[in-house]
Amino acid sequence: MAQDDFNQWFYDKTLRIDYNAVCSKDSAEGVFVSLTTSDGWGGERHTVKQCHHYGRYYMELADAASGKVLYTYSYSTLSHEWQSTGPENGETKSFPESVIMPMPKNQAVVNIYRHDSCDVFSKILSKRINIRLEMRNAPQKYSETILSATSEGNPINITILPEWYGDDEMDKFLNDAKKLTQWLTTTEPYSKYSNRFTINVVMPNKEAMMTRALNFKSSLGFKFNTFNIERYIASLNSKAIYDMAQSTAFKHVIILINTDQYGGSGFYNYYTCLCIDNEYSKELFLHEFGHAFAGLGDEYEKDVTFNIQQSSCELLTPNLTNLKDFKSKWADDIDPNAPIPTPKNRTDIEVGAFEGGGYCSKGVYRPSANCRMRYKDYDQYCKICTKIIEETIIEQTVRQK
Ligand SMILES: [Zn+2]
Repeated sequence: MAQDDFNQWFYDKTLRIDYNAVCSKDSAEGVFVSLTTSDGWGGERHTVKQCHHYGRYYMELADAASGKVLYTYSYSTLSHEWQSTGPENGETKSFPESVIMPMPKNQAVVNIYRHDSCDVFSKILSKRINIRLEMRNAPQKYSETILSATSEGNPINITILPEWYGDDEMDKFLNDAKKLTQWLTTTEPYSKYSNRFTINVVMPNKEAMMTRALNFKSSLGFKFNTFNIERYIASLNSKAIYDMAQSTAFKHVIILINTDQYGGSGFYNYYTCLCIDNEYSKELFLHEFGHAFAGLGDEYEKDVTFNIQQSSCELLTPNLTNLKDFKSKWADDIDPNAPIPTPKNRTDIEVGAFEGGGYCSKGVYRPSANCRMRYKDYDQYCKICTKIIEETIIEQTVRQK
């Protein structure tokens, strides 16, 4: 039984490891910082032995005595994006990052790996965990449940946090969180599984809000112009974000930024953030959540700030291909007789391999002509992105693999 499997290995608590990813142009090293615990665990209620490698990093928690993998997931962070912007040779930058896991009952080892190339991963951090180690408790803030899963099986636990809200704007935050919940639960394919989601909000204490109001400082460190990219809003303060989220049992974090400007970002299994009062906030949320929840890649082309390396192997993201191993992507789901690559003018083809995506106009292919992951204001995910999101929901809510 899944629950027995979980109870055999884990306490119903969350363990977080904070580390610094010290990065240069093409290398990274992890430096351990601290361990933080909190009551309740919001992820899968069974051991997870394998993950999809959609992100640039993955973590693996293994039993120290037997080497058995107990929990693993892949994720993306800002440090890789910084590396993609093409820093100078010799330039280094340190990024505070965090991973979360259920608290192991026995001695365990956590390893963090970075994707280097093809199927080559290098270990950037190894930390032995035992219950007697010094761990801090996450500070507890006020939280409230705004949606409770009613389905059997494990719920998908999402926690929503406020940013740039004033002390007297907590009612607005609560309404904004309910608005976002409505967007999620009425949009395909999430709507089909809306009874599998639990959504909590966390409110900061009054004192912290007062400080923010006086200094005009945000509490979670979100800023525009990340890496000098206009409208790219993100925070490097993973400690503040996860400290606040740990007032609840969570797997996914969404940060609402209280402004009508346009902006947001989404990092696979890390966090989604978005400006909540813009006329395109809903579409932007569904795009960014596609990155953060399901590991989807951007299907658009642009003047490149990012630098996708020429590669002899397939791309990590599930909805993009360079046709090096199309079989491992959506080759089985293309329209009958769709030419591969699919010419631009074949508007009759729903699923093929259309050139242009992943910030490249050549050599990278996407499933359909249009998708939320290509045009942020387009009103649907393409058929393949829809399928990947559905698979993610099902994987995270099954009782046992
Ligand atoms: Zn798509």
